[in-house]
Amino acid sequence: MKLAMTLLIALALTGALAFAAAKAPVPGSDKKGSKEVIEKIVKTDDEWKKILTPEQFNVLRKEGTERAFTSPLNNIHQKGVFVCAACGLTLFSSDQKFDSGTGWPSFWAPIDPSHITTKTDRSFFQVRTEVLCARCGGHLGHVFPDGPPPTGLRYCMNGVAMKFEPAK
Ligand SMILES: [Zn+2]
Repeated sequence: MKLAMTLLIALALTGALAFAAAKAPVPGSDKKGSKEVIEKIVKTDDEWKKILTPEQFNVLRKEGTERAFTSPLNNIHQKGVFVCAACGLTLFSSDQKFDSGTGWPSFWAPIDPSHITTKTDRSFFQVRTEVLCARCGGHLGHVFPDGPPPTGLRYCMNGVAMKFEPAK
């Protein structure tokens, strides 16, 4: 009888602990506009090299920039989504794409603010805001404050860092 009681108490305690763990706030989950939590993907350069083309590796993992007007994604105007070429996370929608005339695929907002991260980039003697994939940390491009309404932002992306998936 005593044993059964102890077991019951132990079970109740485990249940309470599991409940507390499920309720604990997840860092970053309070971000405005999104409750989604992105699981990070971490790989070594050698592992990425096996998955990516040399051009994709140079941009996504080495912060390279593709030559302007070289990406086939520039001229895509059909409905669909643009996903990370490294990990497949959806990044941008054709609904937010606009023709910036810069030669790089440009968007005025990401598909979900939690799908990208930004960081200050001080390379080339200028201060720019780098845009990265929230899941694999891949370099995508930069965001500038000279975009169209409603955000006034211009996400200037490397086409090689993304793949287009047409809407079904
Ligand atoms: Zn990614």
